[in-house]
Amino acid sequence: MTNAKKIVVIGAGVAGLTSALQLSKKGYDVTIVAKFVPGDYDIEYTSPWAGANWMSFVKDNQRLANYDRITYGVFQRLVKECPDAGIWPQRCITYVRPEDLDKQSDLLGGLLDARPWFADLVGNFTMLDPSTLPKGYCQGIAYDSVCMNVQVYLPWLQSQCFANGVKLKVITLKHIKEAVNLHASGCKADLIVNCTGLLASKLGGVMDSKIYPGRGQTVLVRNHAPAMYNVSGTTDGEDELTYIMSRPGGGTILGGCYQKGNWNGAVDPNLAERIIRRSLELCPELENDFPLDIVRHNVGLRPSREGGPRVELEDLDGVGKVVHNYGAGGAGYQSSYGMADHVVELAELAFKE
Ligand SMILES: Cc1cc2nc3c(=O)[nH]c(=O)nc-3n(C[C@H](O)[C@H](O)[C@H](O)COP(=O)(O)OP(=O)(O)OC[C@H]3O[C@@H](n4cnc5c(N)ncnc54)[C@H](O)[C@@H]3O)c2cc1C
Repeated sequence: MTNAKKIVVIGAGVAGLTSALQLSKKGYDVTIVAKFVPGDYDIEYTSPWAGANWMSFVKDNQRLANYDRITYGVFQRLVKECPDAGIWPQRCITYVRPEDLDKQSDLLGGLLDARPWFADLVGNFTMLDPSTLPKGYCQGIAYDSVCMNVQVYLPWLQSQCFANGVKLKVITLKHIKEAVNLHASGCKADLIVNCTGLLASKLGGVMDSKIYPGRGQTVLVRNHAPAMYNVSGTTDGEDELTYIMSRPGGGTILGGCYQKGNWNGAVDPNLAERIIRRSLELCPELENDFPLDIVRHNVGLRPSREGGPRVELEDLDGVGKVVHNYGAGGAGYQSSYGMADHVVELAELAFKE
């Protein structure tokens, strides 16, 4: 390890932890520095608030499809080999309303396609017979996917990093150049990996003005749903969503919304009521065993970015080589291994240069 290149990863969300893990597997000497770490809850820390599942909404974008494709494969392996990771197999069902069919939606993208890009990737892809769909929907797909319990998965990911020799420092940076002197060895870092999520918009030396929040609100309940569901739209407004995910280890996430540019971390009780009403309409089976039983209400800010996520090598004045990995929006988990593998490629390129 002593001769290995020294890398400082800024951020301990899913992007930072997955990047650190993949880099450490290549033999690099990695230190993570972050303000928030697994176990913390804060509106500035998105990863603990995610559902989370694999439900790719990529359309006509090979780079992003590739991130999701790689991650689907890793998640399938983790389901089989690592029961302690908090990921389990779930059927994922999407219903489309006739009025949404011709929409150009960034949010739903390829999910509006009768046969999305991932039809040949996922297990048991099925186009549902329209006569079997619930009232109000004209198209539907179902396929084998996964749901993860992020309260289990994030600490698991962190423990995989520790087992591989990664060090962690809890610290807040004002400027990216501070990271150069924060490697646990005491030596200067050879490379910085920037995984600061939404706060890439506020970190000195980065200040990415293309980053904006996609506010999400969910309700965690103790009830169980037989599959994961999501629909193409609601009658409650363009920025409201309906989705349901039962997590391994208990609890079901009911969502949601995608409110562009909204930084508000407070729960909106009226929105919560609408989420609950829509979820019960879509999946009455939630109350098969007992009436709806709420654990808590959640608000998280997806780190969205105009033009898509930034995975890029940059030579920054006064800092040196930086690989950026942020801006995954609502896809930070389902694209995590693909993006982290891209980070590894860029790190190798930086060291070759
Ligand atoms: C309601 C909701 C549902 C979602 N559902 C899904 C889903 O089903 N599937 C899916 O794939 N994705 C989902 N997402 C999206 C996913 O959660 C995000 O894309 C992902 O968590 C972003 O991770 P990140 O590591 O980039 O950012 P974060 O988790 O925010 O981590 C950023 C890290 O950088 C650190 N940091 C930032 N600035 C500094 C600084 N100046 N100094 C030190 N440290 C700093 C923070 O402390 C933190 O450790 C959902 C999100 C929400 C809100």
